[in-house]
Amino acid sequence: MTLNRRDFLKLMGGTAAVFGFSGVLLQGCKKAITEAAERTPVIWLQAQSCSGCSVSILNAAEPDIATVITEHISLNYHQTLMGGTGDAAIRVLDEAVKKQRKDFVLVVEGSIPTGSEAYCTIGMLNGKHVSAQEWVTELGKNAKAILAFGTCAAYGGIPAAESRKTGLNPTGAKPISEILPNAAIINVPGCPPHPDWMVGTVLHYLLKGMPELDEYNRPKLFFGKTVHEQCEHLADYKRGRFAKHWGEEGCLYLLGCLGMDTGCDIPKRKWLGGVNSCTGCGSGCIGCTEAVFPDYGKRGLYKHLTASLDEINGLEEPQIRAAVLNLRNGGSING
Ligand code: SF4
Ligand code: SF4
Repeated sequence: MTLNRRDFLKLMGGTAAVFGFSGVLLQGCKKAITEAAERTPVIWLQAQSCSGCSVSILNAAEPDIATVITEHISLNYHQTLMGGTGDAAIRVLDEAVKKQRKDFVLVVEGSIPTGSEAYCTIGMLNGKHVSAQEWVTELGKNAKAILAFGTCAAYGGIPAAESRKTGLNPTGAKPISEILPNAAIINVPGCPPHPDWMVGTVLHYLLKGMPELDEYNRPKLFFGKTVHEQCEHLADYKRGRFAKHWGEEGCLYLLGCLGMDTGCDIPKRKWLGGVNSCTGCGSGCIGCTEAVFPDYGKRGLYKHLTASLDEINGLEEPQIRAAVLNLRNGGSING
């Protein structure tokens, strides 16, 4: 079974009209995917990650993950999905380095610790532990494409967040762009990324090469518009109907929603095969696809702005917006 045109359209955006996906790209896509997959192995490394990105891709619906990894790509290495273990598994990585294979796509999930090799090692060679940083450095030299899946790999994410006690990033966690500063890297952020973003980026690369990227090296196809522009509550925002407590109807801006500052198509694409979105379910957007996630200066996640509602209530809407932005940046209502 190969990916048919209908499945491909769904994956890339629900409908071609919503995302303006190129008709040229779709011509002969079945043949192109099959041929490209035959020659494109994928090596997927998990470094400082919670495995959430891998769990997310396991929920890919159309095509499902079994179809993707058995028929569309050759998943040669994935720590938690592959059948091989121990020396046999590490040999896949070692041979890719030693033979200087240049035919594979390198996927990295998780950030790379630089504070000490002991923070994240992947297997052993000749009786010595090999650090995630060494594997990424060596494999990254030859990979034909490098994909950073998840915000930790793309920008540092949660492992690179400031410690509340020390203000430091304790493990020296870095995005792969700082480990491989000269490499062309496609970032597919999210905590976790939607499965369509990951599968869709791989298939776009197989079919058409590099997708068009934004200033944060994210595919514009998925991250080109803000959450706010596509939000279910946009009409509420325009009318000035704001929720002031969790569970109330209305725009979630006063509760700290970061949708205005965040590129992500979840309000249209939705999670769980189309069931609901972060804004649609009333939690608001925490900006998980952005490089500043999760610190946002000193703001952090889920910072309620309701403590200042008494002051905000007397302001006009443009003043409310300015006041909330001030609060987000760690200031007061007035600046
Ligand atoms: S809930 Fe967030 S994203 Fe939606 S309209 Fe309000 S501020 Fe914008
Ligand atoms: S809507 Fe916001 S919180 Fe939800 S996935 Fe997108 S960026 Fe992350």
